[in-house]
Amino acid sequence: MAENQRPTSTTARLTIPEYAMALAHVASLRSEDPFRKVGAVAIDFDNRVIGTAYNGLAPGYDADLDFWADRDARRKYMLHAEVNLCSLFTRGNVRLVACTTKPCTSCMQMLCAYGVKEVYFREDYPESEADAIAKRYGIQLIQLANYPQIIQSGEITA
Ligand SMILES: [Zn+2]
Repeated sequence: MAENQRPTSTTARLTIPEYAMALAHVASLRSEDPFRKVGAVAIDFDNRVIGTAYNGLAPGYDADLDFWADRDARRKYMLHAEVNLCSLFTRGNVRLVACTTKPCTSCMQMLCAYGVKEVYFREDYPESEADAIAKRYGIQLIQLANYPQIIQSGEITA
């Protein structure tokens, strides 16, 4: 901004859910899963980032190319982004979680157990029963569709 210009608005500022989702997108780029890359971010009650995570194999396990050849066979070995994320905090310390994909049923149960109050996701995951779990336990489950917008190969825009 030039020196003689004064700011006229603060509306260009990202909201906390947008901020978290943008970080979750970046985290998803680290996933080694060629079929589904998921990122997740945890924000505390003071809007601080507690951590970022993505889906992948257990730390230290190096899979060969054959491992990735069978999409279904690999499923049970993949640690979901939310599982990895919850390893970074204790119950009651996180207010908001953003995930690039709607949490699966099991992950939604876990986020509930960890006391998370708001969950934002970008892509839907129709097989998940997260909506019913969130509704019953009073957790806000909100879609931020198309945020951040992906232009090309991971490049993002707000
Ligand atoms: Zn999951």
